[in-house]
Amino acid sequence: MRYDEFAPPTPRPGPRRRPVFAAVALAGACLTAAGCGGGDGGPPPGDAKAGAARPSAPASPGTPSPRPSAPEATSPSAASTSAKPKPKPAARGPLTGRTVVIDPGHNPGNRDHTREINTQVAIGTGHKECDTTGTATDAGYAEALFTLDVSRRLRTLLEGEGAKVVLTQDGDRPFGPCVDERARIGNAAGADAVVSVHADGSATGNRGFHVILPAAVSGGGADTTKIVAPSRELGERIAGNFVRATGSAPSNYIGGDTGLDTRDDLGGLNLSTVPKVFIECGNMRDPRDAALLTSASWRQKAALGIAEGINSYLMR
Ligand code: ZN
Repeated sequence: MRYDEFAPPTPRPGPRRRPVFAAVALAGACLTAAGCGGGDGGPPPGDAKAGAARPSAPASPGTPSPRPSAPEATSPSAASTSAKPKPKPAARGPLTGRTVVIDPGHNPGNRDHTREINTQVAIGTGHKECDTTGTATDAGYAEALFTLDVSRRLRTLLEGEGAKVVLTQDGDRPFGPCVDERARIGNAAGADAVVSVHADGSATGNRGFHVILPAAVSGGGADTTKIVAPSRELGERIAGNFVRATGSAPSNYIGGDTGLDTRDDLGGLNLSTVPKVFIECGNMRDPRDAALLTSASWRQKAALGIAEGINSYLMR
């Protein structure tokens, strides 16, 4: 794979907010998923440390990024200066009339609400923590800040195409939501597609992205029967476009080079009744992946790849 070619992130030559392409050929990286463990479902090795780390803002200048302090305040004075987008007229475009829910994984405030996020919630196949802190780079850039930043960039791109976009959280609540509520938000919105944005916390040397697809789960209040096939379609298109937009290779440690994994232990997938996938954009614990994840220009490419995958799915 063209794995090392993108080590120094190079800015895309065109304008940052160019329209999402309506039709993009798959990059051919997405075949069948090999069932694998690991990933974001359980606290990765670095989670405990991540919970204690003080997130620091990425160094890349010139593009908006979440404020380093977390969680973002909800007071009126803070709201007026926060990174929250202002209401604006909806653009018309190819995705007008479509609804996309973006789920920024974790929450910067989770680390200060361990009791609440450790509450068990039903996920169909069992029970699991309400939410987790997520991981962080060794330098302390929190996954929860990464997910918010990519999600906001993704929202801007999709709204530019006319889509109605809902975020499950926007740095506007002290912790969570719990994984079951994250699923319900997508369901209640009647979303045409839902993407949960994450970055992994795996061993050094483990690199690349992977998209997590829902397994067929039925029981305990969960039934993914109807979403397995469309979610795979969504996931394959996101994986293919992510390769093309970022130059990143599929994970070298999960999914057998397909960039796809299938899991039945994630409440956010099990409880979804609309097409939904997770994406682990890279491994925060690997220094070379971390260099990408902390780059604002790379995060814009990541958002673009996800947006083009969603667009491709919705326009199919
Ligand atoms: Zn995560």
